[in-house]
Amino acid sequence: MTVIYNRVALIGLGLIASSMAHALRQFGLAAEVVGHARSAETRAIAMDIGLCDRVYATAAEAVQGADLVVLAVPVGAMGDLAAEIGPHLKPGATITDVGSVKGAVVEAMAPHMPAGVHFIPGHPIAGTEHSGPRSGFASLFNNRWWLLTPLDGADPAAVARLRALCEGMGANVDEMDVAHHDLVLAVTSHTPHLIAYTMVGVADHMRRVSNSEVIKYSAGGFRDLTRIAASDPVMWRDVFLTNKDAVLDILGRFTEELFVLQRAIRMGDGEHLHAYFTRTRAIRRGIIEAGQDTAAPDFGRVAQNGAKGG
Ligand code: NAP
Repeated sequence: MTVIYNRVALIGLGLIASSMAHALRQFGLAAEVVGHARSAETRAIAMDIGLCDRVYATAAEAVQGADLVVLAVPVGAMGDLAAEIGPHLKPGATITDVGSVKGAVVEAMAPHMPAGVHFIPGHPIAGTEHSGPRSGFASLFNNRWWLLTPLDGADPAAVARLRALCEGMGANVDEMDVAHHDLVLAVTSHTPHLIAYTMVGVADHMRRVSNSEVIKYSAGGFRDLTRIAASDPVMWRDVFLTNKDAVLDILGRFTEELFVLQRAIRMGDGEHLHAYFTRTRAIRRGIIEAGQDTAAPDFGRVAQNGAKGG
């Protein structure tokens, strides 16, 4: 138990921030955790369940005197919040975010960061389809990746300190370039979410034709997609609006592949299908070997395994 930052201010008190609050306390990484969320209800819940030592009605008040500020709000809200808190940040403080997209967040936040403050963008690849202050749990980040995307000229000591905090919460930390992050996440998370939303939408239309059969006989694949498609609509709207180019690039490639598979099915080309599915199966094996999921069938996905991430 080593205190890494004396006072941590969490701005936004949903799934990610509440998980951080639990983990910071459990591992003794912060002497004090304060917070802000826009609604009085969320702030009251945060006090009620002991997420924060204090909550503030405004973000500007919450960040005063904080050694680490974490923006944990939807990507589209980061810029306005950065503008609000910029003048109130303590000199020498570190400010990070947990947004699922990095390019747009850097563009929106960087102009508001005063000199003498360390702005180090980040993204924990961990999450569930649940949101709000009650949805967090301390083990969310355990053995998950936390990507940091330090900007040119970032202070190595400040980056190392933030890395130590993420590692203290159980995460594995990697550093990468902002644009590379957005492309990788478009492949591993953003486009798959769009596909899940689409497939569940298709089934919803079908349901009108076949009554409740889609729900009744939902096999593992569809059930898993409905879990992903139950993710927070505001968060995901913002992800697609802000990681537009990378998602459109991957979606274009996806559509091309889909047409090739569609043709193989039409032409009865079993060899093509078999070879394709053999290749994709190897990717799944790689994910299990890398410790990022288990081989156990778990189509309902117990929330606590933190198997999903934006
Ligand atoms: P969440 O559970 O929906 O919580 C969002 C929080 O932000 C709520 O406390 C909300 O306050 C607050 N908020 C929203 N707009 C605000 C504003 N304009 N000013 C102040 N507070 C505001 O969200 P989350 O899942 O923790 O996601 C937070 C961030 O983490 C997002 O950027 C997301 O991309 C990223 N992320 C999410 C996941 C995931 O799987 N969920 C994974 C990795 C990263 P109220 O409760 O008062 O409305």
